[in-house]
Formats: sequence, C-alpha cells, structure tokens
Amino acid sequence: MRLLILEDDAQLGDAIATGLRQLGHAVDWFRDGEQADAAIGSAAFDALVLDLGLPGQDGMVWLARWRQRGLTLPVLILTARDGVAERVAGLDTGADDYLIKPIAIDELAARLRAMLRRATGRAQPEWVHGALRFEPATKQVHWEGRRIELTGRELALLEALLKHPQRVLSKAQLQEQLYDWSGNEPESNALEVHVHHLRRKIHPDVVRTVRGVGYALGDIGPAA
Ligand code: CA
Repeated sequence: MRLLILEDDAQLGDAIATGLRQLGHAVDWFRDGEQADAAIGSAAFDALVLDLGLPGQDGMVWLARWRQRGLTLPVLILTARDGVAERVAGLDTGADDYLIKPIAIDELAARLRAMLRRATGRAQPEWVHGALRFEPATKQVHWEGRRIELTGRELALLEALLKHPQRVLSKAQLQEQLYDWSGNEPESNALEVHVHHLRRKIHPDVVRTVRGVGYALGDIGPAA
C-alpha cells in the first residue's frame, strides 16, 4: 500500500512512518496540511492517516474540504480527542475509521488493511489468482500450495497487480506503489528486476508485459 500520513507530532509521525515501512508499505509523511494537500494531488495513495490537531487548519477542515472535492481516498482519523461527539463528527465528515491515541502500530496497520478491503470491495482476507494465493494481513504468498519467500518490494509489486487483476498498470503507476518520496530514487531498471524475480520465484507467466504500456497479471490457469 502507498500511505499518506498527516501528523504534526515529530516523534509519533516518525514512529508511524517507520513502523508502516517495516511492514512493507510505501509511506509519505507530512506534518503540514498544505503539503499533504499537494501530495494528494500528485500521487495515487491507498489510504490517509489523518491527525486532527494540526498547526494552521484543523484536520477536520482538511477532511471536509477533500470530501467536498470528491476525494474518495479512505481516511483513518488518528487523534487524542476521544469524545463520542468528536468521533461521530469525524465519521460524519467522511472518515472511514477513527483511532484514539496512544496507538499500536499493529492495530493501525490492521485497520488500514480492513479499510482497504472495504474500499476495494474484497471482504475475503485472501486474494487468489490461479494457483497463487496472497494473504494481505500476513504478506504470505503460496504458489501451488508451496510458500514463496519474497522481498518487501516484490510483495508490494505483486500486491499492486493483484489489487487490479483486470488492469494493465503503467510503470509509473507501479513505481508509485513501490516507492515513496523519502528514499532513494529507484534505479531505472529496478521495476524490471522485481518483475524478473517474481517470474523466477513464482511462475514465468505470473506477470505479463504489455509492450509500450506496462505490466498486468498473467494468465496462470484456474485455481488449484
Ligand atoms: Ca497533532
């Protein structure tokens, strides 16, 4: 998943960004609403973690503005405001979930996964494509019943393709899912290398190259 975090607390923001990256997600963390607003306009995120008490505009003001603009990105509010009225207001303004600080990274990650399942209309905790099974919660991959070990980037690539099983994704779209703005620029052939590894580790046809466009899930037969 590519996640956007808007949290002005340096220590908490760093802990969340680090924790979610360790779980294999691409994370862009901003401490300021204006920057997050600009980021939303320039990259495709899967979910937003939103603090309410921010310098300048309150998180609720940003949320209301984004929803008014038609933004459908799933939003999880993260706040110390634990009153029922506040929770109701947050959900009514368009948040999909609400978590009270202090938080545990594992719970945050689990709620983000649940939010994404709802957003993509997949209630089942396992994604199946032919003899390939992928469990988003544990990041376990099985091919023909055999456990496949993948690196974080390989998992992120496979997850991005499985999330849109009918679509061809451009290299730029896939790179957006794999890399946030914090790290080093990916090598120009990094994506091809990850695709090569998926084909070697899983099946030569697991990823289909669509010349001049990008990549799609390959046809790897009926479910085993
Ligand atoms: Ca805050």
